[in-house]
Amino acid sequence: MKPAIPPPQENLLGLDKLELCQLAEVLDEPKFRGKQLFHDIYARRHRDFAQCAELPAHFRQILSSRYRVDYPEIKGRRASRDGSVRYLFSLHDGESVETVYMPDEGRVTLCVSSQVGCAVNCRFCFTALLGVKRNLDPGEIVGQIIAVTCAEQHPAGTPLNVVFMGMGEPLLNLDSVMKAVRIMVDADGLAIALRRITISTAGVIPKIHLLAREAVRPKLAISLNASTDEQRTELMPLNRKYPLSKLFEACRAFPLGSREHLTFEYVLLDGVNDTDSDARRVGALLAGIRSKVNLIPYNAGQGLPYRPSPLRRVLAFQKILQDQQIPAFIRISRGQDIMAACGQLRLAEMGDSTAQAAQPLSSA
Ligand code: SF4
Repeated sequence: MKPAIPPPQENLLGLDKLELCQLAEVLDEPKFRGKQLFHDIYARRHRDFAQCAELPAHFRQILSSRYRVDYPEIKGRRASRDGSVRYLFSLHDGESVETVYMPDEGRVTLCVSSQVGCAVNCRFCFTALLGVKRNLDPGEIVGQIIAVTCAEQHPAGTPLNVVFMGMGEPLLNLDSVMKAVRIMVDADGLAIALRRITISTAGVIPKIHLLAREAVRPKLAISLNASTDEQRTELMPLNRKYPLSKLFEACRAFPLGSREHLTFEYVLLDGVNDTDSDARRVGALLAGIRSKVNLIPYNAGQGLPYRPSPLRRVLAFQKILQDQQIPAFIRISRGQDIMAACGQLRLAEMGDSTAQAAQPLSSA
């Protein structure tokens, strides 16, 4: 079935190459004009059709009279002492999402959002306090990347990593996320290397199986955060529906390229999930899986009852994993002075009372 042609006055950001070729044909232009338009919008970052010099004047005129290219609007920007910058974006319906720009030794990592809020309800997460409002569309996802890299004047040629670890559970918005990924990796699009894109999930098992079947597949990270079902269900209620045994079954079945591995993220919470026994159990869970572990000391904030594990605990946890031949890295949260934990900036914008009142919706 052909995708619908966007109605007049519609934002073209988020349309893929095929859809823009179809749009060109509907407007009585040859198909290749759609490819040129795709390149203009995503690679050249043209927002004004008058700038699309390769397109004939009459086509530019028709496009200008009927369509537009809108990025999410930057509503807030907070720069950290460590170089990272947190953006708050306003969307067309008044909702907002966050994106973080993190430069580091010759490369940049962008942490992007996939939903407004999140339904998964992890107990340690500020985004969970917002509940879920809606999915982002592909244009709102690639729009975060384009808008931030333009605002930061991201130098051409500097490697760009994109991680879906911002607001939302990306696997609960898989169609839009994958369409955005295809635009990102297209050489005529954002030209981001596929190996530099990571989707992080809380463990929505049926969607992990679907992702495994995608022809263009980003890397997968699992937000683990516990070593037993009891503990994980307490921290991540989603685990009741998708317990560790089933999650690890899906992980073992996930296809990996020759140099690829699964990443497991483990947020260390003081006195909750950071004992030596936890580390040994995590090691046992990962046995036989080509994997690495990112240990993330918790980024505390007002409104949630958790504290970061002390450094000696983090180091002890890391050593136990390494002794089991599991690569384990300590990832200090960037931008601690600018509300680094996902959702904190938006909660602050909403005001504390709203944050307290907002209830997470159903779990995935
Ligand atoms: S940690 Fe991720 S999946 Fe869990 S509630 Fe927060 S945004 Fe959602």
